[in-house]
Amino acid sequence: MANIIKKSEFAGAGMFIQLLGVVFCVIAFPYGLILGLPLLIVGGLKANVHLCSDCRGKVDKKATVCPHCRARFGEPDLPTAPKGSGRSDSNLRDALR
Ligand SMILES: [Zn+2]
Repeated sequence: MANIIKKSEFAGAGMFIQLLGVVFCVIAFPYGLILGLPLLIVGGLKANVHLCSDCRGKVDKKATVCPHCRARFGEPDLPTAPKGSGRSDSNLRDALR
C-alpha cells in the first residue's frame, strides 16, 4: 500500500511567495504587512508538498488515490506530529512567519 510522503520544498513556488511576502512587508511598511503577511502564510503552506511513495508524484494531501499511478493510500496524514522524530519542519515554518 502506498503512502503520502510529506516534504518541504524550499525551491518551489512556496518559497517565491514567501519571498514576495517579505519584500512587501519591508518596502511597503506598514501597509505592506496587510499583503505581505498572508503571502508569508500561503507561501509556508505551499512549501509543503505531498508525494506519492510509489511514483514520487505530487498528490493532494487529502487524496486517497494517487492521480499518477493510481496507488491507494493508507491512513491519511494525521495532524499529530510523529513522536521522536528530530525533524523540526513546523518549527522552521513558525520561525519564518
Ligand atoms: Zn503514485
